[in-house]
This record gives sequence, C-alpha cells and structure tokens, in this order.
Amino acid sequence: MTLFANGVTEEYFFNCPYCSSPISVLIETNLGAQEYIEDCEVCCRPIQIRYKTEEGEVTEFETKTLDS
Ligand SMILES: [Zn+2]
Repeated sequence: MTLFANGVTEEYFFNCPYCSSPISVLIETNLGAQEYIEDCEVCCRPIQIRYKTEEGEVTEFETKTLDS
C-alpha cells in the first residue's frame, strides 16, 4: 500500500499504446502538468505519459510510445 503525503490522487485508466491492454496510473491532481515515463504493467515497455490537471480534475491526458 502506498501513502501519499499530500494531495489528491486519482486512478486514471487507459490502453497501452503498445499492447492495448487496459492499464491504470495514479495521477496527482494537485500538481498541474506532468510528463513522465512509466513502464506498461503488462508488456513492460516504456510509455510516455503527459497530463494536465486543473482544480482537481484531469483536463488532458496523452500517451505516446518511445518507438519513433
Ligand atoms: Zn503494454
């Protein structure tokens, strides 16, 4: 179990851009915009994740492969 010291986290579901498996990430909705790389839980390939939050809501969410 992971505890987050402050802020609100929201579980966000999306499909892996490589294997199309439904996976989820935890988004901290008080951080504004974030960009980072997370490995797919299923195929372990690196997914570039970019999101934006406003007033505790996810307003933008984008995933990209690093294959290009
Ligand atoms: Zn995958």
